[in-house]
Amino acid sequence: MLEDNLAKVKKNIENACRKAGRDPEEVTLVAVSKMKPLEDIEVLRRIGQMEFGENYVQELCEKEEHVSAPVHWHMIGHLQTNKVKYILDKVVLIHSVDSIHLAKQIEKEAAKRNLTAQILLQVNVAEEDTKFGMDTDEVIKMAEEISHFPHVHIRGLMTSAPFVDDPEENRCYFRKLHKLFVDIGDKNIDNVTMDILSMGMTNDYEVAIEEGATMVRVGTGIFGERNYNK
Ligand SMILES: *Cc1c(COP(=O)(O)O)cnc(C)c1O
Repeated sequence: MLEDNLAKVKKNIENACRKAGRDPEEVTLVAVSKMKPLEDIEVLRRIGQMEFGENYVQELCEKEEHVSAPVHWHMIGHLQTNKVKYILDKVVLIHSVDSIHLAKQIEKEAAKRNLTAQILLQVNVAEEDTKFGMDTDEVIKMAEEISHFPHVHIRGLMTSAPFVDDPEENRCYFRKLHKLFVDIGDKNIDNVTMDILSMGMTNDYEVAIEEGATMVRVGTGIFGERNYNK
């Protein structure tokens, strides 16, 4: 079942790419495994899925410790500064950097370990009160400021679009974020590489791809519904 779901999502990604005149190789699928058992991750790993997204620090650390062969972990959930130290050497990418304060803490912990953290700036492009992320009009300023941190490398932008019934409703937000992504790239800021645009979840990844996503984060579409009452 997991195998079939993964194949279906990959097929949909290919179709969305074809529709948009894009090469499917440009789009990376992150399988969002939060609240799903390690066995599910193992099943997918064995058929070649390497990228996994987690929202919670403790869960990520436990899975990282017990997985039978290494995979690439993505931190996609809200990150508290006091937890940076637990995940820094375990993840390939932090998608959810939404403040200078957090970036500073990442710089500090990365310097201690003599590594360079790869990050995305999370943007609240739909201006939802309930969502984390920086405001669209402060992203450029923040990118410039964070670019001076020697152990932090900005790789792009991320957003979580609103929960909507019709994914078309989110197209305008994806388009807006893609424009910002291109604009920042055009500025050629030192130590900023705009090569990852992380947007699109189960309900809207095809629209996100049509609007330029290079990374989609799909949970339910691969693993099935999550049970938050467990
Ligand atoms: C849970 C989550 C996802 C995956 O959501 P689905 O709708 O299950 O695909 C993607 N991105 C973030 C930031 C999430 O928290």
